[in-house]
Amino acid sequence: MTRTLVAIDGPAGSGKSSVSRASARALGFDYQDSGAAYRALSWNALERGVDTQDAEAVIASLGDFDYSIGTDPDDYYVRVGPTDVTEAIRDPRISAVVSHIARVPAVRSYLVDLFRRVIESSERPGIITEGRDITTVVSPDADVRILLTASEEARMARRSAEIPGQSAGKVAEQLSSRDAQDSRVVDFMNAADGVTTVDSTHLDFNQTVSAVVALVNQARVE
Ligand code: C5P
Repeated sequence: MTRTLVAIDGPAGSGKSSVSRASARALGFDYQDSGAAYRALSWNALERGVDTQDAEAVIASLGDFDYSIGTDPDDYYVRVGPTDVTEAIRDPRISAVVSHIARVPAVRSYLVDLFRRVIESSERPGIITEGRDITTVVSPDADVRILLTASEEARMARRSAEIPGQSAGKVAEQLSSRDAQDSRVVDFMNAADGVTTVDSTHLDFNQTVSAVVALVNQARVE
């Protein structure tokens, strides 16, 4: 049986992670959150006192970076060695440094290989991988390639609802600064050739999941 590979990219706060995970669950597919690896590497660097602005030191830290992720949408976890970092990598102190790490080309190529190995090892009928460069670099030949967008206003509102302890203004500032840094490295604001844009600005969560699932089912019958 051929497996269906799905690639979803989009900016922070577009709902990529939750939409991808729920779509994978609905389809009986695996789900891979690629941002989690960049976050886990950032967590590992902070834990070890590695300066995240020092590319050489970050590259050296890849040597014993023992990363694992759960791809079952009902059993999602992120681990570094024996430590479960699923929650810890969502901390704003990680979001604040992750772009430093993500701009190092050697880090990107290391993680791109890792993402491809995870895709290869999936034993379900399909896998959805989400991130910033999945439709263009990690899996440009995927059967379904989607850019999930939403207006800046909608993205800020959603993200600020996810981080209740922080002011909406602060969340908005962090989000746009991270997008600005990230978009210097990969273009995830414009759909590449052959990539379908799903704009979720005026869709609720379930409608967005339905739109993604419909695109996947359409590709499966073609
Ligand atoms: O998706 P998430 O917000 O968790 O991603 C965290 C960070 O990881 C992004 O801000 C970006 O710096 C980096 N990233 C990336 N390429 C990906 C996924 C994430 O550069 N495919």
